[in-house]
Amino acid sequence: MNAKIYRALILFGFSVVWLHNALAKGHDNTAASEQSQIHAAVAHVLKANKGFVAQHKTSYFLPFIQGQKPKATVVTCADSRVHSHAIDPHPDGDLFMVRDIGNQVATAKGSIEYGVRHLHTPLLLIVGHSMCGAVKAAMSDYSAMEPAIKEDLSTIHVPRGDPDDPIQVKSAVETNVNQQVDLALKMFQDELAQGKLMVIGSVYDFRNDYQKGSGRLVFTNVNGETEPGKIKQLLSLSKGVTTK
Ligand SMILES: [Zn+2]
Repeated sequence: MNAKIYRALILFGFSVVWLHNALAKGHDNTAASEQSQIHAAVAHVLKANKGFVAQHKTSYFLPFIQGQKPKATVVTCADSRVHSHAIDPHPDGDLFMVRDIGNQVATAKGSIEYGVRHLHTPLLLIVGHSMCGAVKAAMSDYSAMEPAIKEDLSTIHVPRGDPDDPIQVKSAVETNVNQQVDLALKMFQDELAQGKLMVIGSVYDFRNDYQKGSGRLVFTNVNGETEPGKIKQLLSLSKGVTTK
């Protein structure tokens, strides 16, 4: 073996060892960072719950122990930016919350049916939201996603389009809400015919797409009616309703 090849082999050997060590260190750093994020998330939950326990006497929970009589069944997206305090400062006992990706009736029929038929909520409120990731995914090619996610996205029927175009996303969010309302109207025909239930479709507009104020709940569909004037007529007793 000549000296040049020998030196090259030695250098190659050192490089492999260096690369291996660098990758291992990187992996260790990532693992350490993930561990610290997990600890931080657990600490956040524990601290918040400790404060909650300190702030609430046993008497606060007595009605909970007796049962629940929520005012509404609410279907929202699981998105972390969407929470019930936007529509109810004290949602405890008030709202029967059903959450999934894309605020879908299609993927949560049992939970929704329980709220309407067993807890007898007179209102079924479906809440879409600005920049919904599930809707954006459904507008795109999601064939490479995990099987369970693909299954959940397959019930969002929106036109293919550009998920980075806010106007197209806004329209697709509304389309999805309308389709989930339609599904609910079919499920609860009897309750609707008897006047026991109202199904409202809405958009929680944290992007102020509708120019009605950031965070506004915009009503886009009432019992299948999407025309703003008619929505207001249907909700004539509800002051302060915001439509498109
Ligand atoms: Zn969403």
